[in-house]
Amino acid sequence: MYFWVWIMASYIQLLPDHVANQIAAGEVIQRPASAVKELLENAVDAGARNIQLIVKDGGRTLIQVIDNGSGMDEFDARLCFARHATSKLRQADDLWSLRTMGFRGEALASIAAVAQVEMRTRRKDDETGCLIEIEGSEITRQEATACQQGTSIAVRNLFYNVPARRNFLKSNQVETRHIFDEFYRVALAFPEIAFSLVSQGDEVHRLMPGSFKQRIVAIYGQSWNEKIIQVNEENTSIKITGFIGKPDFTRKTRGEQFFFINNRFIKSTYLHHAVQMGYQDFIPAGDHPIYFIRFDVPPASIDINIHPTKTEIKFEDDRTAYGILLSSIRKALGAFALSPSLDFEAELQFVPLPSRSTEIKAPEIKVDPTYNPFDPPKPAGTSFQMNKIRWEELEGRNEPEQLSVLPAESEHAEKSLPWLLHGTYICSQVKSGLMLIDLQGARERILYERFCTRTQQQGASQQLLFPTLVELSKADYALFGEIEDELQALGFDYEPFGDSTLKITGVPAEALNADARKTIEQILENYRNESGNQHLSNKEKIAKSLAKIGARYSDRFPGTEQMLIIIDKLFACEAGNSSPSGRNIIQIIPMDELATRFAK
Ligand code: ADP
Ligand code: MG
Repeated sequence: MYFWVWIMASYIQLLPDHVANQIAAGEVIQRPASAVKELLENAVDAGARNIQLIVKDGGRTLIQVIDNGSGMDEFDARLCFARHATSKLRQADDLWSLRTMGFRGEALASIAAVAQVEMRTRRKDDETGCLIEIEGSEITRQEATACQQGTSIAVRNLFYNVPARRNFLKSNQVETRHIFDEFYRVALAFPEIAFSLVSQGDEVHRLMPGSFKQRIVAIYGQSWNEKIIQVNEENTSIKITGFIGKPDFTRKTRGEQFFFINNRFIKSTYLHHAVQMGYQDFIPAGDHPIYFIRFDVPPASIDINIHPTKTEIKFEDDRTAYGILLSSIRKALGAFALSPSLDFEAELQFVPLPSRSTEIKAPEIKVDPTYNPFDPPKPAGTSFQMNKIRWEELEGRNEPEQLSVLPAESEHAEKSLPWLLHGTYICSQVKSGLMLIDLQGARERILYERFCTRTQQQGASQQLLFPTLVELSKADYALFGEIEDELQALGFDYEPFGDSTLKITGVPAEALNADARKTIEQILENYRNESGNQHLSNKEKIAKSLAKIGARYSDRFPGTEQMLIIIDKLFACEAGNSSPSGRNIIQIIPMDELATRFAK
């Protein structure tokens, strides 16, 4: 009996504090952006009116937050790094009247466990401030110092003592993007506080105190003034305010979508659904609205305690929240006087007009306005005659040079002309039955493979008659920098035009019919959404969105000879049976399957 107790006692040991802290830190600090969030929120809780964020190398080497808030005395300056040290919560009941962002007292302890931290802090009425250095949970220096009122915390070499975490981090660009996202969430939640953001020594944002709308516009660009409309709704327990995108400014993937409850950014699929329902009759299915929506509720009516990183929140009465949100969205869109019968196809014919501020230069390169990437190639010296090619010619000796005979595997040996079903599927007879080809998918595939193999020397750019100005958010401008080389190789020509604005002067010929601004925005949006995809190169990611755009803006009703070319090119593709986004392109309905439909 004693023997066993002895054995067990020798196996079970209490973890040393710094190890326990490191393990606990993993929950709170997953990546540099989590530390950014905690430090910014502490500054807000300290009543700061001005908060600066400085980062280097995606937050790996440096994250520094400087605030002009309350500051701490030397006793608190030491204590704040202890686990469960918080000034914001005294007893469990306080959780229900919480107005601060933090309350767990875990953030600073966690950060100090996995980084080298230097803090300077001074309260308004104290003559001297306090400097503390702490590294892997050990205080290595503490002394009096002269410093400004408020607190500055510099976090260096995050995860220096947790190699597993460090290796798990993504590229600096990806980590920087996460940091920007956290910065936006806090800056949007508190428009009355001034914020600035410096990354790699460049000041990316300087946000002045202002209204919620001014803050949105300051972050995303002046043009957003025109993109958003106001939401306003109130009942006895919930107040909803904010802005939502006009129906013609939707995204193809989820982009700027923000809910704030009592100034806290939250995610909620349930509330998101309410917004979607509100937009239902106003935007095409599959489009994603932009929204910035704030809820003000009595703190006791929400439970923010259900998730360790606190981005999920439970409403006491979430059905009421859903209902009032839905009606606020419908009301706002209705007031914007948009009838549900909008003709979304009209966009296809949209011809971009030069904006007044656009400088108009005489184009130096002739543009062929009839250019269509899916047109049959024109034999030199002759003009191509419509409806001239017959299937027989394809197989016969007089076959036009560039139209190769379809590979045998295509089964396309039977003589029949393809026809178009509802502008969507090319139908054609094959040996075993009926072949259906998805038109959009086929074009995407053909363009995708063409873009992927394109190199700069091929001069695929068409100069725009009217250069288009594209104003990007700072984050998108940085993103643009990441893929500049690929965009140029694909045929984009542009010049920088002031602060985070581009003047697009040329686009790939295949995207000439599309609005250049939307093309760039869409490429950036898709690129951002594919950032985690390790299987595709940057060029492939861009080619994917560009192919989609090029295909969408091609002739909706190709003629017979164009369809033949499409079939031909599709079968010459490496992966002709699936679109770049993985949809099936070709379906064959066998004769016997058809026969069963006619069976008695
Ligand atoms: P929490 O925010 O959950 O209380 P933290 O670990 O983030 O826990 O911070 C611990 C305590 O340190 C806070 O409760 C606060 O009293 C103090 N503190 C942290 N950051 C600041 C700051 N920038 N200015 C003043 N006090 C701060
Ligand atoms: Mg905190």
